[in-house]
Amino acid sequence: MNNRLYGSLIFELSHPGRRGYSLPRNSFEGYSTHQLPASLRRADDAQLPECDELTVVRHYTNHSANNFGVNNGFYPLGSCTMKYNPVIDEEIAAMQEFSALHPMQPAETCQGALEVYYSMQTLLAELTGLSEFTLNPCAGAHGELTGLMVIRAYHNSRGDNARTKVIIPDSAHGTNPASAAVCGLEVLEVKSTADGLVDLADLKRIVEAEGTQVAGMMMTNPNTLGLFEKDIPAIAQLIHGCGGLMYYDGANLNPMLGACRPGDMGFDVMHINLHKTFATPHGGGGPGSGPVGVRQGLEPFLPTPRVVADVNNTMLHVETGEYEQALGSIGQFFGNFAVVLRAYTYILSLGRENIKLVGPLATLNANYIKEQLKDDYKLPIGSLCKHEFVFDGLADKSTGVTTMDVAKRLLDYGYHAPTIYFPLLFHESLMIEPTENESKETIDGFISVMRTIAREARETPDVVKQAPHNTPIGRVDDVLAARHPVVTFKQMNNE
Ligand SMILES: *Cc1c(COP(=O)(O)O)cnc(C)c1O
Repeated sequence: MNNRLYGSLIFELSHPGRRGYSLPRNSFEGYSTHQLPASLRRADDAQLPECDELTVVRHYTNHSANNFGVNNGFYPLGSCTMKYNPVIDEEIAAMQEFSALHPMQPAETCQGALEVYYSMQTLLAELTGLSEFTLNPCAGAHGELTGLMVIRAYHNSRGDNARTKVIIPDSAHGTNPASAAVCGLEVLEVKSTADGLVDLADLKRIVEAEGTQVAGMMMTNPNTLGLFEKDIPAIAQLIHGCGGLMYYDGANLNPMLGACRPGDMGFDVMHINLHKTFATPHGGGGPGSGPVGVRQGLEPFLPTPRVVADVNNTMLHVETGEYEQALGSIGQFFGNFAVVLRAYTYILSLGRENIKLVGPLATLNANYIKEQLKDDYKLPIGSLCKHEFVFDGLADKSTGVTTMDVAKRLLDYGYHAPTIYFPLLFHESLMIEPTENESKETIDGFISVMRTIAREARETPDVVKQAPHNTPIGRVDDVLAARHPVVTFKQMNNE
């Protein structure tokens, strides 16, 4: 492995005086930078790397080739749905007609883009059985916060200010309690049963004790174990009975597509992760889009600005201030429009018939992998899963090989690791989500490698414990990078 290609910083390749560009002479005599007032001029030259063009191009091209994404190989990251991003989605999102727009442009100059935006709001309402959507939130967690703010605004509008608590299952994604805290709500945790579903008896106990203070309940369905929460009608009845609202975390909407709708199950408010359910390359924190939908009666509380159509189907921006009960703005402008464009293209290119296949195929793929691997890996909950499922490490624990080791060994075989050590309900969680897009050959290849790793763990455990062997760098201390980030070259030199 050529360390120069993998290890170096652009600053380390710098040589004083080397140039990668040549600028024309300044033709504006008398306007050179030297006539800027001294107070605006820098005293020293900026410390920039000095490299020839080929060095720069090769440096960044080689770095980009070290990346692993869905376009490189299988990426079974559970809870994050690393979905295939059809090229047409990218082409549409990159179109000048969209990408060169300015968010402050008058509505009459961008009717096409606003129509896409408006149609997407309507499509999502139809897909989920809710009344109205805002596309403004920039991620799932941002959607959760927005949705909880809608719930608070609803209670406050009725003068019911005592509802300051929200019920969240212990299996929930970490963003749920975090969003509740940011919204100023106290979390009441409801336990899971041994089958991994919400414990109704525990929920009843909470509702009886705290019902008058409950703003609502947040639920993910299928939950983070990939299990369908079959008791939603009873749960919704309990929560509505005490005056609370039902919030649906739609990050796991995939397997529901075409099968059932959160609005029909009794949910009042929800978010969708467009970047999980409907394409868009993500990971590393963005970009995302977390549209929030509400049932009839809650529309007035949605944030502004909004895109609405008048009687002639002319698209209008409606700004903050025009809706008395609206939350106001929850971010900049209308959110991440390029993500909306990709999702819109994804939905329209599947069409009404094919979108119904998404859920069943995602579910089939996950169950197939689960059944093929359950002799080699410990399956704590054996029932039918939806689009993802969780192993609790290897079946044979005597070898000392951990989930971390398995994940690292997968990299040697050219597969991205599944989600590991989440959910927190098991010690050695290994959470696998294949998505509906993968072919049988790809899935069989993954199954065969997972079996090989299980065999290695029994026969030559050190090979797995010391993995990865074939990647540019081995195991990194990921805590160190978070605790002591070194983000400038200069600082590095000092240490
Ligand atoms: C990913 C995820 C979230 C958070 O979504 P972001 O877009 O990453 O903010 C919330 N809940 C569940 C179940 C998730 O999988």
